[in-house]
Amino acid sequence: MTKRVTGPEIERLIQLLARMPGLGPRSARRAALHMIKKKDQLLAPLAAAMAEANEKVRICTTCGNADTSDPCTLCTDPTRDQSIIIVVEDVSDLWALERAAVMNAAYHVLGGTLSPLDGVGPGDLSIAGLVNRVAAGGVREILIAVNATVEGQTTAHYITDQLGGFDLKITRLAHGVPVGGELDYLDEGTLAAAVRARTAF
Ligand SMILES: [Zn+2]
Repeated sequence: MTKRVTGPEIERLIQLLARMPGLGPRSARRAALHMIKKKDQLLAPLAAAMAEANEKVRICTTCGNADTSDPCTLCTDPTRDQSIIIVVEDVSDLWALERAAVMNAAYHVLGGTLSPLDGVGPGDLSIAGLVNRVAAGGVREILIAVNATVEGQTTAHYITDQLGGFDLKITRLAHGVPVGGELDYLDEGTLAAAVRARTAF
């Protein structure tokens, strides 16, 4: 049995930090020590920010975005085109698309993808919520922006089926050569998708 070098409070901090994505026990120890050394500049403001976030964070009941208001900032933004809904798997995808700043539209977060092997069915995702939004009217396009994985594409097909009865345009992301990408380095699947999705000059 290894001897303890810190009190249980600091051990607990390290254990919790180690559960963060991308942080193992070693990185967690370094992060904890860094925070302890910078108690006033880092640990105290971080603790306050976490307490405030914990108190105020809500998941939007319309789109599934994480925000401090429900409906969220995006759902209530009058400058957004609410007639276009971009369907994503996770809030992180929503953030990525917003960073790209390519469309000023509404969103719908599914909360995952269909995966029968992992026991994830349609009822586990926010698909009925999406259908309800479309049924409520005013939506003219659904852009299904899921990952280019088997599960993502299965989910996209299922959603397309569910929305079959509505008069709207259903689109999906193009798959192809990444910006700056060299053909020689691409995997065959990406290259094949790029050829199939070729556009006129
Ligand atoms: Zn929302």
